[in-house]
Amino acid sequence: MSILSMTKTLMKSVFHGPYTLLYPIKKKEVFEHTKGSIEIEVADCIHCGLCQRNCPTGAIQVDRNSANWSIDRLDCIQCYYCVESCPKKCLKMGNQYSAPAVKKVRDEFTNARVSGN
Ligand code: SF4
Ligand code: SF4
Repeated sequence: MSILSMTKTLMKSVFHGPYTLLYPIKKKEVFEHTKGSIEIEVADCIHCGLCQRNCPTGAIQVDRNSANWSIDRLDCIQCYYCVESCPKKCLKMGNQYSAPAVKKVRDEFTNARVSGN
């Protein structure tokens, strides 16, 4: 690379500013098929546990007795396998990223119709 082309690249970078975003203040544009985070329509869930068994990272936990379905967002690698394996089609991949967090928190969803809560 010649000095001239290196200087051109350097100047372009100086005037362009950072290519990264100051997340979460500035958010990246999402598209229709962006793999964001798993969403559940818990009223349709039969708590069969297939998604839990198939999740390669152990992010999902299903408790049939309490009709509870939960996910550890930081463990999810957005592989989509749970969505494909759900017999009730009640899981989907939303295009919004989950909120930033400093510690692991499980997002819990309970089917009140089944649990009686
Ligand atoms: S596979 Fe579907 S129906 Fe079965 S527990 Fe998971 S979300 Fe519920
Ligand atoms: S997308 Fe993959 S890693 Fe995330 S919960 Fe579903 S199966 Fe697990």
